Amino acid sequence: MITPEEAAAIVRQHVRVLPAERLPLVELAGRVLAERVEGTEDLPPFSASTMDGYAVRSADSGDRRLVGDRFAGRMDELTVGPGTAAYITTGAPIPDGADAVVKVELTSESDGVVRIEEEPPAGHNIRAPGYDLRKGELVADVGTILNPASIGLLASAGRVDALVGRRPRVSVLSTGDELVEPGRTPGPGQIRDSNRYALLAALAGLNVDVRFAGLAPDEEDAQRAFLTERIADSDVLISSGGVSMGRKDLMKRLLPELATVHFQQVSMRPGKPVTFATVEGGPLIFALPGNPVSSLIGFELFVRPALLSLQGAGWPERHRVRVRLTHATKPTPRTDYVRAVVTRDREALVATATGEQGSSRLASLAAANALLVLPPEGAPYKTGSIVDALLL
Ligand code: AMP
Ligand code: MG
Repeated sequence: MITPEEAAAIVRQHVRVLPAERLPLVELAGRVLAERVEGTEDLPPFSASTMDGYAVRSADSGDRRLVGDRFAGRMDELTVGPGTAAYITTGAPIPDGADAVVKVELTSESDGVVRIEEEPPAGHNIRAPGYDLRKGELVADVGTILNPASIGLLASAGRVDALVGRRPRVSVLSTGDELVEPGRTPGPGQIRDSNRYALLAALAGLNVDVRFAGLAPDEEDAQRAFLTERIADSDVLISSGGVSMGRKDLMKRLLPELATVHFQQVSMRPGKPVTFATVEGGPLIFALPGNPVSSLIGFELFVRPALLSLQGAGWPERHRVRVRLTHATKPTPRTDYVRAVVTRDREALVATATGEQGSSRLASLAAANALLVLPPEGAPYKTGSIVDALLL
């Protein structure tokens, strides 16, 4: 059986970055940049005040005679000569002659005279041209996931749009005769379909275009029809259920017929039956296990990075930190992803597992903010042992 790292590498090998599209600033949140953007001029383009106060000459001392105002956005003729000062607001250009700004809190003004409590050194409270961004400096590189600050940078650099990876078209399918819609009261032996809604929620924020989300019974023709239809118009197909060892685990049987299967088992817990297949020129297919925690952990480890990777973001992983266990636990024969709460205890991060870790028990994941990564085998962990955690 392959390790989770090997499985991720196999998925990554099959990612073909989607074509880029040009979008306006207001549509760029979370998108992946497909071009390199550099500053085309120094920002700010002039020396600017970082405070509301008075622009002065640092070589002077004592009271200054007020010679005028300089407001942000204005550049009227104004010179600060020896012994004088100009009122200035944050972001306004420093007038000729001045080389420092005294913040208003350290001054008092009456009858055109400014009293200064603390003489400033040269350059005080002045932002030099290019301080925020220099001409030619990198604004954002190819593969950057655009966050609010990087979109702000694009705007300040004068961009009105940017080239970003196209949104993957995604289809989601739940499989199982036992499943009913959440609004229904399950009959004997039935349960509500939770995976479809959990997976749709996991997709939110990843810039995907969900084309289809449905539920198929454990019936070979129904599942084949779904797969055939969705292979034709999806970049990513995500199913849950039907990949373990049961007689009604039809996904496991159908996928080799319709696609090339790359792995059907990964040495991990939960989520061992996670299956990955591709179709030449078609979608990446993730057939996730049916158990609700298994399907979400499979999504987290393989689908989430693949969706960002398709948009050109490399293979973005969650932040990995070292945490101290607040309890003892044992390793298992597979890599164990333990749902846990990580908090800070003085100088250290500490982790506590979220109770029963069965793969059907969604509450163990709902309460977690991290997954502990416990490698297979090895000695038992004592309270206080240091382990890796992926921050969700
Ligand atoms: P399977 O791999 O299809 O045998 O499913 C494994 C377990 O997950 C079974 O207990 C299923 O009832 C459960 N399961 C499968 N699909 C879903 C779903 N969409 N929502 C909630 N539980 C599911
Ligand atoms: Mg099933």
